[in-house]
Amino acid sequence: MKATEASKDKNKLPSDEPLIELRNLSLEFHSRKKVAKAVNDISLDVYRAETVAILGESGSGKSATALAIMGLLPKPGGVISGGEILFEGKDLVKLSEAERRKLYGESLSIIFQDPLSALNPVLTVGYQIGEALRKRKNLSKKETEKRVIELMKLVRIPDAENRYKQYPYQFSGGMQQRVMIALALAMDPKLLIADEPTTALDVTVQAQIMRLLKDLQNRNHMGLILISHDLGVVAENADRVAVMYAGHIVETGDVETIFRNPAHPYTVGLMASIPSSTQNGERLKSIEGLPPNLADPPTGCAFHPRCFMATELCRQKEPVLLEILPGRKSACHFAEDVLNDKSF
Ligand code: SF4
Repeated sequence: MKATEASKDKNKLPSDEPLIELRNLSLEFHSRKKVAKAVNDISLDVYRAETVAILGESGSGKSATALAIMGLLPKPGGVISGGEILFEGKDLVKLSEAERRKLYGESLSIIFQDPLSALNPVLTVGYQIGEALRKRKNLSKKETEKRVIELMKLVRIPDAENRYKQYPYQFSGGMQQRVMIALALAMDPKLLIADEPTTALDVTVQAQIMRLLKDLQNRNHMGLILISHDLGVVAENADRVAVMYAGHIVETGDVETIFRNPAHPYTVGLMASIPSSTQNGERLKSIEGLPPNLADPPTGCAFHPRCFMATELCRQKEPVLLEILPGRKSACHFAEDVLNDKSF
């Protein structure tokens, strides 16, 4: 998939080559008796200075995709069963351990939803932010401290000189997430994956953290993969969106176009759950039913048991993700009907 012209225009660096490219990636989780197909044959690319959101309910495969990119799939059990993850043309799946350690430390970073579980409670935040700098950049103690304080100021942690020596529990949730961002940015990564970075935070702090990430992206031109179930966060911050359902990408395109005119019934359902100013006290609609068991998915289209448009064809035949307009793809047998129905 090539970036749409619209999304390329938004990039600050002209680049025809993707920073990262998932090609037909499939992931499985093996347990004693079952194999759950967490991600099925997905392809996606991200360019420098671009934000691509992966949107979907929990269990859709979005976090598993992030873990696979970072080489953090749970072991034993998590398996890349097919495809490639190309970072600047190199397949991350085939790297040696030494190449992998170097690349992950220097070029790719991730921040998670719950900063407290990612931070070590018995080490000061200054020590934790500085760890990578000490190990990888061979900085002295004094140089490390100076750089850590700069990073803490960059992510707008007030009184950085004193807070450097404090422990994670002495920080609020929003400040802990800023520490995680400083930690992720310590090596100036080319790609940052933010996995539900604001889900645990209140709305005001959410907006501050997203603004901070966007400011940092503008400075560093890094690619950002934003993983979220929150349509508001995605609408405000992404350039392009890949909607995932049951381990499949079911729709992709420019964020504005998808939100204005979805081309897949699952995306239509997600959009209907957004509160609007014209709601007048009406209940928000939700998508009926639950996501399928990935160890025993339905036949045909995985969304058919919940889809308001499902037909016999949907129950029998799996739809393929196809281009329906330049820069737009949908995996629905009736994508054009959905696209052209203005009542959604
Ligand atoms: Fe719904 Fe059928 Fe489209 Fe699947 S293929 S989303 S069941 S209409």
